[in-house]
Formats: sequence, structure tokens, C-alpha cells
Amino acid sequence: MKIYLYPATLLLIFTFASCGSVNNQQSGSSDVNALATIHDFNKSLTPELLSEHLHIVASDSFEGRGTGQPGMQKAADYITAYYKAHGVKAGLEDGYFQKFNLQGQANKSIETKIIQVVDGDSTAVYEGTFSNSTVSAFYPAFGGEVSATADIIFAGYGITDANRNIDHLEGLEIKDKWVMIFEEIQHVVDGDTLVSAEIGSRQRLSDLIFRRGAAGLIMVSHFDETEFMNDALAAGSVFGMPGRLSLEYTNPRGGFRATVLNINPSHAEMLLGLSESGSNIGEFYQTVSSNPSAFKPFQLNYSLSSKATLETIQVPTQNIIAVVEGSDPLLKDEYVIVTAHYDHTGIGAPDATGDRIYNGADDDGSGTVAVMTMAKAMNDAKLAGKGPKRSVMFLHVTAEEIGLLGSRYYSDHPTVPVENIIANLNVDMIGRIDEEHEAAGEEDYVYIIGAEIISSGLNTTLNKANELNGNEIRFDMKYNDLTDPNQFYRRSDHWNFGRLGIPFAFYFTGVHVDYHRPSDTPDKILYNKYAKITRQIYSTAAELANNPERPVVDSQEFINITQTNSR
Ligand SMILES: [Zn+2]
Repeated sequence: MKIYLYPATLLLIFTFASCGSVNNQQSGSSDVNALATIHDFNKSLTPELLSEHLHIVASDSFEGRGTGQPGMQKAADYITAYYKAHGVKAGLEDGYFQKFNLQGQANKSIETKIIQVVDGDSTAVYEGTFSNSTVSAFYPAFGGEVSATADIIFAGYGITDANRNIDHLEGLEIKDKWVMIFEEIQHVVDGDTLVSAEIGSRQRLSDLIFRRGAAGLIMVSHFDETEFMNDALAAGSVFGMPGRLSLEYTNPRGGFRATVLNINPSHAEMLLGLSESGSNIGEFYQTVSSNPSAFKPFQLNYSLSSKATLETIQVPTQNIIAVVEGSDPLLKDEYVIVTAHYDHTGIGAPDATGDRIYNGADDDGSGTVAVMTMAKAMNDAKLAGKGPKRSVMFLHVTAEEIGLLGSRYYSDHPTVPVENIIANLNVDMIGRIDEEHEAAGEEDYVYIIGAEIISSGLNTTLNKANELNGNEIRFDMKYNDLTDPNQFYRRSDHWNFGRLGIPFAFYFTGVHVDYHRPSDTPDKILYNKYAKITRQIYSTAAELANNPERPVVDSQEFINITQTNSR
């Protein structure tokens, strides 16, 4: 997929927005009398309407809506232009945006220097800089934020495997040293298992850093110069993007900060002294792999210095809030909040086709467009005198993918009193079908998480709303268990309401092969099913807004969780 030009897209947005406004006013008056209740207004939530907007929100021109990236701002502007065009009110006095800053660090460059040490004499034999515009003999595989200068030890696979009599760390102190290893472990050679299957690749890296105190790791992953260069360029294309963003008033998230570098094959050969002996790195790898128990680690005649240049950055972002105000003079101070995150992961590492745009059509373009169109439908109901008694807030949160930061910010800075928030309906990925249901041939289902395990009243309302729509969607309760190992009940934005004791229902159609890949595109969405779920959520919000009683949290287990472990 390719990025197409901005001016054309902007034109498109304003064209849609203004057309929509005119159509709305014309068709509004003639349709109104035929629509009897607030629920009937969900008939406008058609597969065609959802498809039209999702094909824009998840198009390449929105660049995957990465937090802090320009495509996300385009999405924010698209959403608010839609609300303005249809007369849906802003949720704040000064507009739709609840603005705040995220902070983090961006890596500008990693300078590396190889020093040869012979008989106490040191000579620099290589110097290079890796950045998003320059490639060096190294590129960062992980971390890359910690600077280090130290001797290098070559440690084969960097593993111990007592069952196979392998110890590639034997006898040498690796604390505070660079440890150079082969990335790929050959467990089976010529049909013989030489390394136990449970000895894993990733675990070994954190073991070397966190348990054994290595200063950094150098991985030999390439035996071919061209392959190294291709991977180094791909790494450069995403290098320097802000990592580990956090709210300004909370601690930065943890993560892997130590430097793990990939080295190019010719420099690996130099460090290992293979060039002099006429051997190459591929042959040496085969020698070690064919008899891993015979290998012992050794110190190289080189040291490596790597220096990371980091820049602290602030990323301004915003939640987007629209409101359909309730009609009842007392109940209008209470709110049902419908949420979806409008960020996704942005531009990232390319997939096998070279595509770098993570469109996020299902995640969470589907929720974003569902919320936009539900807000418009409910506002149309209000304009026709059929509006909700309580107020309904439509909240598009930012920065979900980097740690639920937008919803966390909202829950710490609510725009209405927390005690007046009667329920949260969160929509995150409702347009696809997962493997299990595909195998069973069932399309019209949605996983519900929350509701029944929090509040029997909320659960009753969900079922009532489904009945109102002819039960066109089946609720799957597979994950609706506070002890489910996936813990979906705390993995999206609803949790930031849940931790405040607010009952929630989370709508989700499951994980699929395109999840968090550039291939999560709008052409793969099942629009009929997506529309059915959207209508169901609309009706649930309308029921909650009009019921005489608000739903009560009556699950003791849930109360215990929110009181003892609210993060
Ligand atoms: Zn999501």
C-alpha cells in the first residue's frame, strides 16, 4: 500500500462533511414522523454508512493513527468535522478536545566504536553511527538506550543446557561485558536433538542482561551482507520514534532499555578473527551448531563502545468528547459513556510485502466509526424530540495501544462527576471473526466482557437491547470470567472506568491473523455483522439512558478486585 497525497484527502474530508450536513437536514424532516422511538434511529447504522467512514479512517492517508503522529491528528479532525457537520455537541466548554501531554524519550542515534587491544595497545578499528538516515556495522534489535564501553566475550548460543552438557557461559565472568552470541539456536541437526527444545531465544536475552548483568548484547543474525543491509534499513525506518510514552504525572512504563545490537557479517568475522584464518561466519556457525557441547566461550581482542543519544520529548494529544444531552431535567446530569480508542500503532516495521502502515481497521477503526455514527444517530433522535433522558457521552480516547493512557487520563480528569457516570460501553474490535467461530461457521456473535460479572442490571439491559433488535447477534461469554487467563476485562479502556467502580460492558469480536499487522485493512471487515453489533450497542446505550434505575455493581468478586488492585 502507498501513502497518497494530503491535499486530495483533505478535500475529500470536507466534501463528505458538507454533503452529510445538507443530506441530514433534507432527509431529517421527512423521516422523523415515521420513527417512533429512540431505538428506531439505529436503523441509520447500516453496513454502507460504516463502510464509507471506515474506509476513510483506516485508509493509508491516516497512516495508522499512531499516537503523536500526523495521521492521528487527521483522524481527530475527521471525527470532529463529522460531529460539527451533524450538529452533535462538544463535550467541553471550549470544544471537543480534552488536551494533555504525553512524555517519553526518542533515540536520535547510536554511535559505535570498535577498539582492538593487542599487547595493551588500543587502536580504534571502526567507528560508525546508526540513525534513521545512516546505517553502521550495527543496528539495534531491542532497547538501545543504554550506553556502554566494555570488552567483548563470544558466548556461542549464550545458553546453558545441563541435560545436553552444554555451557556456553562457562568459566568467564560476563558481568559488565558485551556478550556476543548467535541469535538462531539450531536445536536439531541432522535429525539429532542437540539443544533441548525448551531453551528459548528471547528468554536467553533477558537472562544475560537482567540475571547475569551483561553490559549489552551483540547478536550475529546475518551471514549475508545484503540481508543485513536490508534489515538494517528496515530498522532505521522506525528508529527514533518516541518510545514508552507516559502521562506526565505517572512513572514511565518499564521496558527493555539495554542495548542489543545486530552486527554485520564482515565485522563479526573481524571480531572473531575468522578473516585471517580464511574462514567465514556461516562456516563457524555450522561448526558450533554441529557440536554445541564442545563449544567454550572466549574473550575477544576487542572492546566495543556504544553511545546512545536520547532526547526527551513531549507529545501533545487529546481525547475527543461529544455529548447528546439528556432531556430529563434531573436525569440529564447522569451519563452513559460510550468509548472507543481512535489511535492505533501508526507507521512501523514493514511486513513481508513492504507495507509499513498499520491501518487498524478493526483495531480500533471499527469502534471509532461505530461511536461516531451512534452519536449522530442518537443526536438525530434528540433533534426529532426522541432523545435520551440521561445524557450520553461519546468518548474517543487516545493512546490506548501504548498503555490505555487516554482513558487513564480521562478517568483521572473526568469532565463530569464520577458518581454521575452510570455505565461505560467500550467498543474495541467488532468487525471480524476469530478462528474458533470461523471454524464453526458462525459470523453473528460478539464477545461480551463485563456486564454479567459486574452488574446483573447491566446484563439485563444488554439482553433487552438485543431483543429489541430481534436477537440478531449472539453474545459469547467465553472470556467473561474474572479468572480468565487472557484478562480481557482489564485489557482495554473500559478498565479505567472499572477501576473506579463503574460497571462496564466491553464489545469485542476476538483476535485474528491480521491483529496488529499492516494487513488489518477495511476490505476485511464483515460489514453486516459490524452493523448488527453497532445497532445493539446503540440500543443498550439508549436503554441505559432511559431506564428508571441505573445499573448497580452487585458482584462481590468485582468489588474486591477494584478495591484491592485498581491498576
Ligand atoms: Zn484496540
